[in-house]
Amino acid sequence: MNTGKSGSLRSTLLASSLGVASLAMVIGTAAAGDVGTAGGPRHLEAGQPVAMVHATVEAAQRARAQKPSRPTSGGSSNLSYHGGSVQTAPKIYVVFWGSQWNNNDPSQEAVTLESFYAALSGSSWSATDTQYCEGVASGTVFCNGKGTAAGNSPMYASYWYDNASLAPTHPKQSQIAVEAVRAAGHFSVTTASGNANVQYVIATATGNNSSGFGTQYCAWHSSTSSTYGNLSYTNLPYITDAGSNCGANFNNLGPDAGITIVAGHEMAESVTDPFPSSGWTDSKGSEIGDKCAWNSATANETLGGSMFPVQPLWSNAAASGSGGCVMSY
Ligand SMILES: [Zn+2]
Repeated sequence: MNTGKSGSLRSTLLASSLGVASLAMVIGTAAAGDVGTAGGPRHLEAGQPVAMVHATVEAAQRARAQKPSRPTSGGSSNLSYHGGSVQTAPKIYVVFWGSQWNNNDPSQEAVTLESFYAALSGSSWSATDTQYCEGVASGTVFCNGKGTAAGNSPMYASYWYDNASLAPTHPKQSQIAVEAVRAAGHFSVTTASGNANVQYVIATATGNNSSGFGTQYCAWHSSTSSTYGNLSYTNLPYITDAGSNCGANFNNLGPDAGITIVAGHEMAESVTDPFPSSGWTDSKGSEIGDKCAWNSATANETLGGSMFPVQPLWSNAAASGSGGCVMSY
């Protein structure tokens, strides 16, 4: 399997030099996933809303290898508004779900997530979200000060160890949705207007992740209706369980790099498209994070005085409005 940048490049060059047979093999491999768009909308469970999946490193590189000349910028590639809401004063609530977390966090993901979310407030990295807005005409690409912009401060609200009993070993989407509703009750966010600005991050313990993690996705976010209104939530698996396919040592950023790369991706998307896909996506359904997932510009960024690995985010404003992946805004 090609899990490194050099491996991906090598297979592309190999295909070019060896001709049709090898090229067919590469295309055949790529056909296992969506061609050209590694991440984005998926239907994971019957009866559940669409989930926006964060591609694995392998899937992202496969997609790029198959379309090496695909433009990474250009007006038609920008995000546009789909008529729903964005989070104008976003808040993040994290749930460490299940007694499987008790004395069982080998990569110290809980403390990493808590410090990362706390460091985001007002950062120039997450500020890229703020060029997107709600309350403008569907199809809008540049808000130009109209409508209400997505917010960037404050961000991190609280966490909850829901660890009195076991979580499902491999929770389905519907089970994670129920846990998000439970979290809303726990945090007493019980109105639709309150939940319009909240994202619930449901973090599963090591060895207890949803099936498909590490092969079909690194995480995903979705929404669910409830008596507390529509809720936006993220399925955040125990990222280091997937090794390099979800970011371990990506760009030489260390074995735990994937934790904040993936968490940051989902955070930014939940702000700009909290109830998929009624917020901001491109014409293929990709969101602000998907378009720049596992991008070579992924790097350590200073957030709140500490360094965290994060990926760039798509900015319509970059390159004089052609759009591009940026680390600050
Ligand atoms: Zn995504």
